[in-house]
Amino acid sequence: MTRLITQPMTTPTEHTDVLVVGAGLAGLRTATLLAQLGHSVTLIERRRRLTEFIRTTGIFVRKTLSDYGLPTEHLGPPIRTMVLYPPSLRKPVRLSSERDEYRVGEMGPLYEHYAREAVLAGVDLRLGTRFLGLVEDDWLIREDDGARRIAARFIVGADGARSQVAKHLGLDLNAHLLVGTERVYPLTDPAGEPAFHCVIDPRLAPGYLAWTVNDGVHAHVGVAGYAHRYPHGINHALESYAAVAPGLSPADRNPAQAEPRGGPIPVGGLLRRISSPRGLLVGDAAGAVSPLTAGGLDPCLRLSDYAAGTLHQALTNADRSTLQVYDGAALRREFRGRLAMRHALAQIRTPAAAEAAFLGLRIGAGRAAAGHILFADKSFPSPNQVIPTR
Ligand SMILES: Cc1cc2nc3c(=O)[nH]c(=O)nc-3n(C[C@H](O)[C@H](O)[C@H](O)COP(=O)(O)OP(=O)(O)OC[C@H]3O[C@@H](n4cnc5c(N)ncnc54)[C@H](O)[C@@H]3O)c2cc1C
Repeated sequence: MTRLITQPMTTPTEHTDVLVVGAGLAGLRTATLLAQLGHSVTLIERRRRLTEFIRTTGIFVRKTLSDYGLPTEHLGPPIRTMVLYPPSLRKPVRLSSERDEYRVGEMGPLYEHYAREAVLAGVDLRLGTRFLGLVEDDWLIREDDGARRIAARFIVGADGARSQVAKHLGLDLNAHLLVGTERVYPLTDPAGEPAFHCVIDPRLAPGYLAWTVNDGVHAHVGVAGYAHRYPHGINHALESYAAVAPGLSPADRNPAQAEPRGGPIPVGGLLRRISSPRGLLVGDAAGAVSPLTAGGLDPCLRLSDYAAGTLHQALTNADRSTLQVYDGAALRREFRGRLAMRHALAQIRTPAAAEAAFLGLRIGAGRAAAGHILFADKSFPSPNQVIPTR
């Protein structure tokens, strides 16, 4: 475990059952469930407002929408159409579903909604508060008026893809990362069918995709890929894509009106060591993101449920060893197929190779396979079904 050498502090040590670091979706969910189960929970978040510095596009898949009952007033209109493009943008492949497949969350209001739920459940939510590390046996945080010690029975690292909590607990760190960036354009002309457009072009998105998600209210225009494979940087690639992006009318292409978003995306599959006797990791910190689609919202909710259940048991039994069952290695096996497909996507290195791969999507079997992946009923594996309970 990493330790911080610091000056002694004058403020008394605070006590809590669980210290949760990071108020993204994973931290908010874990903290709320634990408070609802009767535990004292302190949730710290370095951002001062949950509506700022948003990282995600916010696409929720059908399975999440049906299992988690998200507040519909903060969701955009349903999307049933997916359009796939080769680098030339010619002869796209259109896939339509009879069901509502995706909805884009208004993430600022959604985070605030879940923050209100957390506070109602009794969570002590502290914005503008940064996790610093370990000092003696306490956790060290920084608030506006200085550093404080917190003695927590357990800590939860919900602090994103580059987790500091993971480092301090001596757990696995995400090493296989994409970087993504996008602009969210408000639409002046909301005509047209909501659709999710994806471009397979290694110049714009080496190892991943460029996208336009237009739900009739906003258009999210973005690119993601391996950082070291962008010769002129990812912002240059976004600029090039935004100038031609399908699914966005020229009248709406005003970058001054657009909200920038972005961040790292762990795509190496769930990490193996995600718990220690002192705490555990959830969400991106645990690598809980689909290696193929890079979707992390469904995984972070499901893993948070499992984390809260495990911590509840450990707190009730007063037994730190209970956290052993929270085992990334067991869950990771479920990711084998998606990791193989990630590897295949990463091999497409030239526009010619992307055009050739695209030919497969134009035939029946290729279309069916794409539909199966994109409109799937599968989600992040339910940990309770994969890991036997003790
Ligand atoms: C550009 C982009 C688009 C994406 N689009 C989608 C999508 O459409 N659908 C989908 O399913 N997934 C998407 N993902 C992935 C998805 O957004 C993440 O998997 C998910 O949001 C992870 O949630 P989280 O709570 O684990 O982490 P985060 O949302 O990253 O939350 C971590 C929180 O911890 C806080 N924090 C970090 N360090 C500290 C510290 N030292 N002290 C205090 N607080 C700290 C951060 O401020 C942050 O609020 C996208 C990712 C990117 C980058």
